[in-house]
Amino acid sequence: MKKQQNEVKCSFCGRDKSATQVLVAGLNGHICDQCITQAQQIIAQEAADQPKGKFSSKVSLLKPAEIKKHLDEYVIGQDYAKKVLSVAVYNHFKRITQGIRKESDDVEIEKSNILMVGETGTGKTLLARTIARILQVPFCIADATVLTEAEDVESVLTRLLQSADYNVAAAEHGIVYIDEIDKIARKSDNPSITRDVSGEGVQQGLLKMLENTIINVPPQGGRKHPEQKMIAMNTQNILFICGGAFDGIDRIIERRMKSQAIGYSIQEDADEFDKANLYQYVAPGDFKKYGLIPELIGRLPAISYLQPLDKNALKQILSVPKNALTKQYEKLFELEGVKLIFEEAVLDFIVDKAVDFKLGARGLRSICEAIMLDLMYEMPTQKGKGEQHIVTLDYAVSKLNKSSLSKLKVA
Ligand code: ADP
Repeated sequence: MKKQQNEVKCSFCGRDKSATQVLVAGLNGHICDQCITQAQQIIAQEAADQPKGKFSSKVSLLKPAEIKKHLDEYVIGQDYAKKVLSVAVYNHFKRITQGIRKESDDVEIEKSNILMVGETGTGKTLLARTIARILQVPFCIADATVLTEAEDVESVLTRLLQSADYNVAAAEHGIVYIDEIDKIARKSDNPSITRDVSGEGVQQGLLKMLENTIINVPPQGGRKHPEQKMIAMNTQNILFICGGAFDGIDRIIERRMKSQAIGYSIQEDADEFDKANLYQYVAPGDFKKYGLIPELIGRLPAISYLQPLDKNALKQILSVPKNALTKQYEKLFELEGVKLIFEEAVLDFIVDKAVDFKLGARGLRSICEAIMLDLMYEMPTQKGKGEQHIVTLDYAVSKLNKSSLSKLKVA
């Protein structure tokens, strides 16, 4: 009798059915729970062992339109910036593969680093982060403001190296996002007046990195470990994306646009440009006027801009992207078995307040938190499974009025 029962065996390890907890049947065989666990471990190990920087064909196969589609899932609007980024990243992979299959007669594709300009909170970092999700190359974000006397520009490459688990070859094909590049601008484009030595010094340092050179990188970063052995890194194939708000550059652009129009004696056309969104007309010379050194601008040939976000865009940001704020709250409640519903008017209220407080998209989260705090505090104990909760306009107004945010000066 026992023998009959044990005739079914795991086709992988040969264990009898009685020696297993679960035996899953396939078309021509069986697999036991222990073999499933073991197979899972092998798969996990394989994935962990994949050398980073072995940027798979999967990535290079993503066409610019596919990269943009992916960005569309997370970032609202900003079509132009998405296009510039998608093309640059796609070409970056083409360059890298060209480098690997070196053919003597090949035209060498030059790297096209990117300079992004747009008001704060319009999605520059979000774009860079979202791109990083689909990339299988090392990626890091560095803040230009910390690159002062205290931290050498090489520390940016240290980060990249760390994100590549110290695989130098992989890091040499990575992507670096440098935020707040505008904060290291010279105060004037005339170097003889109000010369801002530290800003210019950092720009020179960055320039060195953006040029195709070998840089000695301290693997631990900083200057705290003088004994550390430097790692030589070639920056030739590293893609640099720089972003900044360039506060006030709109005035530089407007002045140029007006004088250009006058210069061409078409003064009547001078007012024809869209003054509400001057970033779209940004040109390399404007960055020079703003205080970036021409050599650095020359190394950032792909210029892109982000539009200011209007109310409609802010409302979409609240509810449309894959990980939109309202979706996150709904998920949190769903995990407690409660269905959360936001009244449409609440979304408009949140957007209006973000605009009033001049907080832009960055403010949406703090306004939501102020409204939702009490609910999130009470819900786990007071709500039962299967219930639903509607966030009404009255509720939202009363909660925000009681919060410290309401003390903010309305713009
Ligand atoms: P920036 O780098 O331009 O100053 P961020 O990318 O850091 O701005 O944006 C701050 C936050 O605002 C993001 O984390 C995101 O939640 C939201 N946000 C800003 N712009 C957008 C956008 N275009 N689409 C979706 N969310 C956005």
